[in-house]
Amino acid sequence: MSQSGNQDHSAPPALDEFALIRRFFADRCQRSETVVLGPGDDAAIVQPPLDRQLVMTQDTSLAGRHFPNDLPAFDIGYRCLAVNLSDLAAMGADPLWCLLSLTLPKVDEAWLQGFSDGLFSLAEESGIQLVGGDITRGELAVSIHATGSVRPGEALCRSGARRAERICLGGVPGEAMLGLQQWQAGARESAAIDRFARPAPQLALGQQLRGLASSCIDVSDGVLADLNHILTASGGLGATLQAEAFPANQGLFAALTAEAALQLQLQGGDDYLLLFTLPDNAPLPGNCLEIGRIDAEPGIRLQQADGNRVDLQVKGWKHF
Ligand code: ADP
Ligand code: MG
Repeated sequence: MSQSGNQDHSAPPALDEFALIRRFFADRCQRSETVVLGPGDDAAIVQPPLDRQLVMTQDTSLAGRHFPNDLPAFDIGYRCLAVNLSDLAAMGADPLWCLLSLTLPKVDEAWLQGFSDGLFSLAEESGIQLVGGDITRGELAVSIHATGSVRPGEALCRSGARRAERICLGGVPGEAMLGLQQWQAGARESAAIDRFARPAPQLALGQQLRGLASSCIDVSDGVLADLNHILTASGGLGATLQAEAFPANQGLFAALTAEAALQLQLQGGDDYLLLFTLPDNAPLPGNCLEIGRIDAEPGIRLQQADGNRVDLQVKGWKHF
């Protein structure tokens, strides 16, 4: 840091920046043979595994935009790392390292403790190492850069889907958006809120899909919007989804009308499930749903139980 003129001299002395970094981040980093030098110097030094390609991603989460301002600090730390790990999962990569860029309005030690507890609980569970970062003052924002690895040529891309292949999902979609709606309506505890607050990046599934799936993406913007990315990247294909593949009034959706449940499942984002295509000879991994097939006619259609087909409009979230 070197931002002269930025200090608030009237405030009581808060935890000094470097002590803060050590206490909540650097001292919690684990040893690993791929980390030669972790946080504390001008930059980290890492040792990439031999004969591996590196897979890199970065995601920024803004308070009030990507998560509610009053989400618990633990969940913010967990979720911000989860969305980055989900990108690695969607590429079929094994996690290696991450860098954390944190913008804070003030030094709130209880908040920082919760945030770093959430971040490190997922970091330890997933085996990713925090190797450095940055802290600045401003509106709450969290940006994480994550690196993983694959054997050459093994990464899962969006571009490999082919006609007649099965379209599959790593679980039931729409639960996270249901949770966000419940939160916005004033609820603070529910299974759906947990799905929004602490999405589970599907790293093991991504690794299992290497050599099996022809394309893969993680659902951040909604099943239709993200499926549309696969269709476009794969050369302008289309898809027909089966309405009965979506469990309308079961589980967390039991209280909703079938129509409202389907809307959430098709258009709701933030689930961070993997959406992938499988050639016929590839087995469907456990706990995954087969939701339809790729076809040559552009656009996405929904086939109802009675055989009727309706065209679906891709909405999804766009920043611009
Ligand atoms: P510089 O001003 O030289 O860029 P910083 O003050 O930003 O250094 O960071 C000092 C050290 O602390 C660096 O090694 C950096 O990677 C680490 N660091 C800063 N913020 C974090 C953080 N949020 N988590 C982990 N390490 C951090
Ligand atoms: Mg420096």
